[in-house]
Amino acid sequence: MPELPEVETTVRGLARYLDGARLARVETRRAGLRRPFPVDLVQTLTGATVTGLGRRAKYGLIHTDRGQTMVFHLGMSGRWRIEPDELGKHDHLVLETDSGHVLALCDPRRFGSVDLVAEPQLAQWPAFAALGPEPLEDGLTPAHLKTALGARSAAIKLMLLDQRIVAGLGNIYVCEALFRAGIDPRKAAGKVSTAALARLVPQIKAVIAEAIEAGGSSLRDFAQVDGELGYFSKQFDVYDRHGQPCTRCGAPVQRLAQGGRSTWHCAGCQK
Ligand code: ZN
Repeated sequence: MPELPEVETTVRGLARYLDGARLARVETRRAGLRRPFPVDLVQTLTGATVTGLGRRAKYGLIHTDRGQTMVFHLGMSGRWRIEPDELGKHDHLVLETDSGHVLALCDPRRFGSVDLVAEPQLAQWPAFAALGPEPLEDGLTPAHLKTALGARSAAIKLMLLDQRIVAGLGNIYVCEALFRAGIDPRKAAGKVSTAALARLVPQIKAVIAEAIEAGGSSLRDFAQVDGELGYFSKQFDVYDRHGQPCTRCGAPVQRLAQGGRSTWHCAGCQK
């Protein structure tokens, strides 16, 4: 599943082709993805000039001079194909710029979404209204976490996956940040000390920044990989490493189930 760093990398890749470009052709090749495409999508975007791109949580934003922003989510399997040799059956939305660049939103499982949101309404858009601060922005501080977590008894791992506490953090990066900060993922969120939260925040920012950087380095080659902006491999300390030695102490990494998903951790290093 594309996580925040993949979405950020995708947005940066798209910006090379779209920022400042006029959309000469917009084509929908089916009725929608997880929900129907907006009825006025083609009409609104055709002839529009892209005024900038951005990201909020795991959503990509394509701002236009029509006062409308196209908001996309990649769902489970979505990706943008840049200059595809030919369109496939999973290319459901196609944008062509007036300089002839073709970008196709490919989503085999169709869990993604595309919406049009009036720019002044973006912050209040339902998916955005309750989001917590972006991990890389100044709003994510130990003090914010302390307040947001309060006296909650739910596990810190589950609370960090709650988008109202931090926007866009996914399973991989929560597991990795908790490991680096030495915090037991099962610990009650309200019982994590101020000192531990002060260790955690810079590690959240670091794991996300490193992943974006890794994606940025794979971006240089993305024209060679059939124009697909997708996943990039990275060496993790604990994520998906059940039974393998902890990178810090050598004890086997353990897996447990929390909220229906796997957590990987080192019982010796995380207290
Ligand atoms: Zn360890």
